[in-house]
Amino acid sequence: MSDFKLNTKCVQAGYTPGNGEPRQIPIIQSTTFKYDTSEDMGKLFDLEASGYFYSRLQNPTCDMVAAKIAALEGGTAGMLTSSGQAANFFALFNICECGSHIVASSSIYGGTFNLIAVTMAKMGIDVTFVSPDSTEEELNAAFRDNTRAVFGETIANPALTVLDIELFAKVAHAHGVPLIIDNTFPTPVNCRPIEWGADIVTHSTTKYMDGHGSAVGGAIVDSGHFDWMAHADKFPGLCTPDESYHGITYAEKFGRGGAFITKCTAQLMRDFGCSQSPQSAFLLNLGLESLHVRMPRHVENGQAVAEFLAQRPEVASVSYPTLKGDKYYERATKYLPNGGCGVVSCELKGGRAAAEIFMKHLKLAAIETHVADARTCCLNPATSTHRQMTEEQLNAAGIPAGLVRISCGLEDKEDLIADLKQALEQIG
Ligand SMILES: *Cc1c(COP(=O)(O)O)cnc(C)c1O
Repeated sequence: MSDFKLNTKCVQAGYTPGNGEPRQIPIIQSTTFKYDTSEDMGKLFDLEASGYFYSRLQNPTCDMVAAKIAALEGGTAGMLTSSGQAANFFALFNICECGSHIVASSSIYGGTFNLIAVTMAKMGIDVTFVSPDSTEEELNAAFRDNTRAVFGETIANPALTVLDIELFAKVAHAHGVPLIIDNTFPTPVNCRPIEWGADIVTHSTTKYMDGHGSAVGGAIVDSGHFDWMAHADKFPGLCTPDESYHGITYAEKFGRGGAFITKCTAQLMRDFGCSQSPQSAFLLNLGLESLHVRMPRHVENGQAVAEFLAQRPEVASVSYPTLKGDKYYERATKYLPNGGCGVVSCELKGGRAAAEIFMKHLKLAAIETHVADARTCCLNPATSTHRQMTEEQLNAAGIPAGLVRISCGLEDKEDLIADLKQALEQIG
């Protein structure tokens, strides 16, 4: 599949049926797998042979879909997880332990921010948050001897900042640690972080990859580029024998291309069990089959809506990386030449009250705590996810009370704009 273009990989990578086999990916709805001898099974437990024994660790349906996502990102190995949260936790915890330190962009998904700043802190893992707009010197200053990973999002949810992946990768590598990029919003159709130097890529497949709001899921892809053994002192989990796996040293036995995902599956999936169900993986794959067709439409609608909103008297400001004049326009031109995603945010001049009136009158855009599926939806953080905050706190967090996030779906853009127009006119 590696010779084919991305569009073809979206449709066909990960599964090639043999003669007389099902054309569609089979859903292997089985928790367990049968073997003739205990010796056969013993080899699987020793990681001496590859195969399936229990769906908490690996399942053929999930593996086929993971292989497709790895092919799309240009990585050497991939795995599915039960959610995007699980993917980011696994990607970090696979190389961090009590006493480690992470450098992370401050402009990331709220759930990931809590995961790193609160929950992983309880595990003894420290973090330094840096601006996505940090200079090389500012980034360098965030590192410590115990730094083990750098983390950021290509296009941040919900701030819509664009990360300078090349710079973050350069600095991470200068300090001997990998760069982990959450590429949920652009998807590999619009950006492939590995091509810019990222080492590990994560996804909430719940969003555009599934694309229909039908299954929660996540994915991790390894570029196979990071040389763990060259920094063996930093990554003992990969570079010294794992006593819970009969003394296997992952980086030696599975090499650069396989060590990260093998360890993540063999240890973290075994112990935490955040596996995706084969049924969900099947639904995810249906979404992936049209990802390359859907993303350009999400971008077309997002761009049209952003341009429309920018001209409206009721609107104070619009954030959309590929909108001319956006703070991230130049960076978007470099990293997102075909556009970013369908999520647009705008601040209404009338604040919270205007946002409430506007959203109440929208007919096509439903009010949802969700983004990135076929149906347009919207959210006012001040009256929903950030409801407990005062006006002052909201402003300090960069979330003005009148901010509305609109996730443009796949409807006709003229219908979307007409709907937004009539709702804006109600504000009065
Ligand atoms: C939604 C989201 C997540 C979390 O994913 P879940 O599938 O909801 O667990 C992580 N990162 C980004 C960028 C997201 O948008």
